[in-house]
Amino acid sequence: MNKIELNSMSLDELKDFIVNIGEKSFRGQQIFTYFNRNKNIDIESLALLPKELRKKIIDISFINEVKIYKKFDSDIDNTKKYLFALSDDNIIESVFMQYKHGNTACISTQVGCRMGCKFCASTKEGLIRNLTPAEMLNQIYMMEKDTKETISNVVLMGSGEPLDNYENVLKFINIIHDENGHNMSLRNITLSTCGIVPKIYELAKENLPITLSISLHSPFDKVRLKMMPISKKYSISELIKACKAYGNSTNRRLTFEYTLIEDINDSETELDELANILRGLNAHVNLIPLNPIKEYDKESPNRDNIEMFQKGLLNRGIPATIRREMGSDISASCGQLRRSITHIQ
Ligand code: SAH
Repeated sequence: MNKIELNSMSLDELKDFIVNIGEKSFRGQQIFTYFNRNKNIDIESLALLPKELRKKIIDISFINEVKIYKKFDSDIDNTKKYLFALSDDNIIESVFMQYKHGNTACISTQVGCRMGCKFCASTKEGLIRNLTPAEMLNQIYMMEKDTKETISNVVLMGSGEPLDNYENVLKFINIIHDENGHNMSLRNITLSTCGIVPKIYELAKENLPITLSISLHSPFDKVRLKMMPISKKYSISELIKACKAYGNSTNRRLTFEYTLIEDINDSETELDELANILRGLNAHVNLIPLNPIKEYDKESPNRDNIEMFQKGLLNRGIPATIRREMGSDISASCGQLRRSITHIQ
């Protein structure tokens, strides 16, 4: 019999689980808080629970842990990159960043990724497996324990495509938001996707005020197709339609990520078309200078051209910012998270 993963359960699931083994439901809440507020993992030392009950739980369930395998500190800013070892010895990467508005965790949702974006390091070896809710939660809890800081914002921008691991990601969001646990505001959670259209509609129905961030990177299908295989399945117009539906049902401003690549997507023609397709949407463009990876021989435009692109969007009435690069000296920037060490050695 497969044992149940105790720390991947939502509060309601834990209560049901406890009631099903003949105990009172408040015990479920105690366990939930123990994991998700106190960031503890060892059920044996949960003294609030009678010894007998602890034994019963240990017999039928297991607790999924992630352990710090290596940690890199940036000399440029206070960014820290963590390599976490999973219980099956796979390694994932997460990043801790300090901003004026609070601490942000960039976490992984999958080991590897199967989306195949040409400029992204995380996808080079394909998808190994999905992460469980506990494995996503524990990336945050372990970074909080290690830095002795509270993390107020989470971006799902580490390795993996969050909408390709939909159920687990939603459960993670539900748990991290629960007031009996970490109590993170949904508004402080950003889900970044390469644009799996049916899943965007599904997410819209959940009516969660999280921020949806769409990796667009070009307003032209022809250009996008060359860098993002997902565009074979869904055209830009289908994608924008789904984003409109998402914006209408959640009333949230959308973010479009746009990785700037010299001579590929940084011309006036792109500016005009980008402004055309985003006009009327409550949207904001986040420009990301391309971070170099060895498998992609293109470059970022220089700083002046990046700023000109931003101005070009602003002049066309589209709000745009340039993403600050964090921890580039430790390969912690967007698209640089790679399974450099794939297994515990
Ligand atoms: N799977 C999600 C999360 C990806 S990482 C998604 O596709 O949105 C977050 C952002 O970094 C995405 O917009 C991604 O396209 C971008 N990115 C990936 N590799 C990059 C690189 N080498 N340089 C700059 N941005 C990159």
